[in-house]
Amino acid sequence: MAVAPVIAGATIRLARGSTRRLQHNEEHPRLMKAAQRIKLFEDVYARDGGCCVYCGIPARRPGHGVKRGPDLATLDHVHPRSLGGPLTRDNLVLACSACNNERGTMAVETFRASKTSKPTA
Ligand SMILES: [Zn+2]
Repeated sequence: MAVAPVIAGATIRLARGSTRRLQHNEEHPRLMKAAQRIKLFEDVYARDGGCCVYCGIPARRPGHGVKRGPDLATLDHVHPRSLGGPLTRDNLVLACSACNNERGTMAVETFRASKTSKPTA
């Protein structure tokens, strides 16, 4: 996997009066994490065509005024995080919020089977 590029020109807001200055190559853990997560989200969103891989509905991107809802785009861990699944592109799929919640830690195959055997309401 390619290393996420450092976002050029990113501004880091520090509290007024703070004397702490970030050096060019100093990693700001929280910022880097957020940037990487956004990159990861964009990668997975594009790869999976913006649709939930389980039910196929177009998943809405979270954004201004779009914070919750069953069709909100989320990243679902194929191998559940709680079972040691890594937060990597290969272990993530685009899932709508409803499917993500519904699946929980169910195996992907089991969940997919349950989605296809049961007509959605
Ligand atoms: Zn879905």
